[in-house]
Amino acid sequence: MIAEVIVDISTAEIDKVFDYAVPEDMQVSVGDRVFVGFGRQNIEGIVVGLKEHSDVQKLRPIERRADEFTAVIPEMVCLMDYLAKRWFLRKADALRLFVPAQMRGGKVRELERLAAAINPDIPIDQMLSSIRANAVAQRGLIAHLSTCSWEWCSALTQQFGAGAIKALQDKGYILVAPKKVGRKPYGDLVGNAPKVALTSEQQAAVDVVGQNPSGKFLIHGVTGSGKTEVYMTCIERCVKQGKGAIMLVPEISLTPQTMQRFRGRFGAGVALLHSGLSAGERFDEWLRILRGEARIVVGARSAIFAPIQNVGMVIIDEEHDGSYVSESNPRYETIDIAEFRAKYNGAALILGSATPSLESYQKAQNGEYTLIKMSKRVADRVMPSMQIVDMCDELRRGNKSILSGALLAGLKETLERGQQAMVFLNRRGYSSFMICRECGNVIKCKSCDVSLTWHREENLLKCHYCRNQYHVPTACPKCGSASIRYGRDGTEKVVADLQAHFPTARLLRMDNDTTRGKTGHLSILTAFGNGEADILVGTQMIAKGHDFSNVTFVGILDADMSLYIGDYHSVERTFQLVTQVAGRAGRDKLPGRVVLQSYSPKHYVFYFASQYDYEGFYKKEINTREVTGFPPFTKIVRILVLSDTEDEAFRYVKKTLAAVKEVANRYPNEVSRVQGMRAPISRMENKYRFQVIMRLERAHENEITAMMYQAAVDSLAGCNVRMFFEQNPQNIT
Ligand code: ADP
Ligand code: ZN
Ligand code: ZN
Repeated sequence: MIAEVIVDISTAEIDKVFDYAVPEDMQVSVGDRVFVGFGRQNIEGIVVGLKEHSDVQKLRPIERRADEFTAVIPEMVCLMDYLAKRWFLRKADALRLFVPAQMRGGKVRELERLAAAINPDIPIDQMLSSIRANAVAQRGLIAHLSTCSWEWCSALTQQFGAGAIKALQDKGYILVAPKKVGRKPYGDLVGNAPKVALTSEQQAAVDVVGQNPSGKFLIHGVTGSGKTEVYMTCIERCVKQGKGAIMLVPEISLTPQTMQRFRGRFGAGVALLHSGLSAGERFDEWLRILRGEARIVVGARSAIFAPIQNVGMVIIDEEHDGSYVSESNPRYETIDIAEFRAKYNGAALILGSATPSLESYQKAQNGEYTLIKMSKRVADRVMPSMQIVDMCDELRRGNKSILSGALLAGLKETLERGQQAMVFLNRRGYSSFMICRECGNVIKCKSCDVSLTWHREENLLKCHYCRNQYHVPTACPKCGSASIRYGRDGTEKVVADLQAHFPTARLLRMDNDTTRGKTGHLSILTAFGNGEADILVGTQMIAKGHDFSNVTFVGILDADMSLYIGDYHSVERTFQLVTQVAGRAGRDKLPGRVVLQSYSPKHYVFYFASQYDYEGFYKKEINTREVTGFPPFTKIVRILVLSDTEDEAFRYVKKTLAAVKEVANRYPNEVSRVQGMRAPISRMENKYRFQVIMRLERAHENEITAMMYQAAVDSLAGCNVRMFFEQNPQNIT
């Protein structure tokens, strides 16, 4: 037997299948991780095929298998091929997505500890009669174990002493063996999720999904319409039919409530997968899924690769969320992978959002997805009213602070009523940059071409791209002037200002700085949920999915910040953000109110958002995209080239540009606007960044995309560069 193996080395040259002989006495299946000799190394690889004959003359044998189980299920081997074709991933990189990172190199394995149990072959009476009456510990241990199955030796030693265990083991009365310890993430997070009677809209949604087990659905449900309950009911039915389900939530570590609700409803049948887990926890959860012990997976983006077999349903909650697009290597879109898995398994695909992406909503309009509308909040709760404040007006009236009069009045009222508020600003730190008043020099990171942010608590300047930290200079590094001014305000400054206005209010801040560590988010959210604070100030972290019953007021500062980032997504992104943040208010019996501050209050995005008019917004925005020729009507491709020196990067990007243009010239009706230039952030982490951008006229064109990819790869062969090939990138930075 010959095994086709992909070795765990990610380079373009080695990205192919190698044949190895399977020794006579070895059982190998497709998907097994194995050790093979490669050159002079002994490395890990994954078997992706088995065959009888090979064209290679002298085959090396597989050394040994790496695990007792088959790590990659057959579906994933097909997915690997798909990822290579559609997203130009190297096969080795694709395979790395399918197994926990620390399993490679054997850095994580199942945790085992010694446990003891009674020997079932010997009657208890017989044991007891043969033990001396004064051997109290031994008698106690037998009595104890006779009432239970395996118990950890560590606990038994504490209670009965090591001597008793040893003595009984020698007599053969008890069995001692290593047993696996399952590490359970957030073990103490067992919420209860009592079953509720579905609203008519929820029931209708469940029914529509039930009618087509392999259908594709888009649930457009306003915030607080009870989408999670719909997902859980659908999953319940799916599991009853013996099938598995995958449910994705953006940044699930931010939404412990979702974890609680699923644990409460499905108990041990749920596995949680997300970046907040330790390596051991992640591995154990993954193994429970692989072994079929957990049939429901709830997790962030990477959970789409969970090794669950016979999938009956894939759900993507908040499907518009940017976190579903992998922007770092390897690059892929989660919805696309979900479509693959649903198709492979004949499963249902359910996307849900209060603010669907234009692309998904267009697919619903075209009939590719079945549109399900949930237009009302549960229990007749109303959407919060939204007031738009013109910050230029405030300035004219002499208010130079970041907080408007209306916002302060709203907060005051909320605090007086003993209710809670959330204040949103998508900028952490105290001040977004430092600028010299003499020469206009903005203080920048030494490794990246971006301005630094002042963090007051630590009194440091931080780069938000490479995480470098710097001491605060007392003089301008360029001209030596001591007159340095701080730029726009961040969350830290907002907290300080609010505290000055409301000295007795209890404030909490939630952003990247305050949420370090696995339970950082959890403790802030729990404290706020328990009413230990009156106002929660935060970045987009507070926008997502939270359900606090006492929050009646939401403030949105600098709402237009995301509007002018020079990206075709920016208006859509702003609409989503505003709607989601506003949706945190008035989710229970108390009605909610929102104050939105903007320097461009007349912009249509705020009008539609304040009316909760998604349809109106969609029509306007999709029309703009069509007229201007942006996705989803076309496909934008960016090829990013990084190198150590500016000269090199510039030389290489010219080669790529020439190669790409040659392809473009052959397809003048398909490709347009091919341009080479510096990337907007021209240097990051000491790498110089150049880019080639182009537009493909047909959005779903893959053949020409593949040619462009190949042209770029070939143009850079042997060059000292890194190249990233992006299709419809979320951010062009
Ligand atoms: P969405 O995800 O659509 O924003 P959620 O699923 O978080 O909304 O539900 C909002 C709130 O309504 C939650 O507190 C949830 O427990 C509650 N809820 C959901 N469905 C019902 C129902 N049928 N009856 C009563 N309360 C419900
Ligand atoms: Zn930096
Ligand atoms: Zn200066």
